[in-house]
Amino acid sequence: MRRYRCPTCGHAQDFEQWDTINVTLNPELKAPLLSHQLTTFKCARCNRATPVEHNLLYHDMGKHFMVWLMGYNVDGTSLAAVATLLAQAARGDKYKLRRVHSFNDLIEKVLVLSDDIDDRVTELFKATLPQRLRAQSGRSSVTLFCLGRSESSNDRLLYRLHLPPTRQTFEVPIATAQELFDDITRDLPPDTLDGEGPWQLIDKNYAARAFNKRGLNALESYRDVDLALNCFNRALTLMADDPILLANKASALGAMGRYGDAIEALDLALRLDAGNERLLLTRADYLGRSGKLEESLLCFEALVQAGFSGAAKGVERCQRLLRRRAEGN
Ligand SMILES: [Zn+2]
Repeated sequence: MRRYRCPTCGHAQDFEQWDTINVTLNPELKAPLLSHQLTTFKCARCNRATPVEHNLLYHDMGKHFMVWLMGYNVDGTSLAAVATLLAQAARGDKYKLRRVHSFNDLIEKVLVLSDDIDDRVTELFKATLPQRLRAQSGRSSVTLFCLGRSESSNDRLLYRLHLPPTRQTFEVPIATAQELFDDITRDLPPDTLDGEGPWQLIDKNYAARAFNKRGLNALESYRDVDLALNCFNRALTLMADDPILLANKASALGAMGRYGDAIEALDLALRLDAGNERLLLTRADYLGRSGKLEESLLCFEALVQAGFSGAAKGVERCQRLLRRRAEGN
């Protein structure tokens, strides 16, 4: 119980704040949590309802998962200690430990994991759909929210689509989402996509990492440049400001011989990671490959001057090619 002041009228009254919720011990708390009731302050004087933002730890012993909401910059430290202890206690127990950054994400995780669904599968599926819808609708803010299993059919997922100002729901066979997940994560050793620490963040960045890894695999193992480019583009819709993704996209474009487009991608990457040696060397190299040998030579020379020793080979090659070109004429 804590004292909370109504932001509308200033009236102070007690508010029961749940920092940890164990739905196995207190199953009666689950419904009011999911309906926002537990995190809403109802003022006795002015009757106004105000959402109270605080972190919390959700624990389901029956389903073997915990979700740690750590999105709000308040009262975090004591809960972090509890989370560390719980993670240690659950080790080796096949527990799913998840971090989320907002109350809505907490609700989504709880709905999905309570229904015994793999949240990595629902997250990857979310990553594929909005892109198409975004293209169709011409709008940028399309969000998908998984509500767990469909009530009418146990082997279908229920999604809610926010396409401002409307929202609608639709269903997807779980097998379809699983197939997509299996295809993207094929050939990836287990744990490749895991983040650091026991509390995993399975969100759109997870999906972006998955598409990036699939793209690298396609590029390196199969020489499938079209698939690789597709994967990197998909990942970039989820994490647009990532210089590594942009560099990987440039590699795919370079492998296709599309050097102009590749240089464009590298320029974007360099805006985010100025002075990155690998990006600068690749850019200079692609200039040469696209036929701009003089420009390429100038870039390599400037890089040597700047102290990038790897550029010396580029200078030599450009000079050799320019000599050959002069002799040919
Ligand atoms: Zn009030």
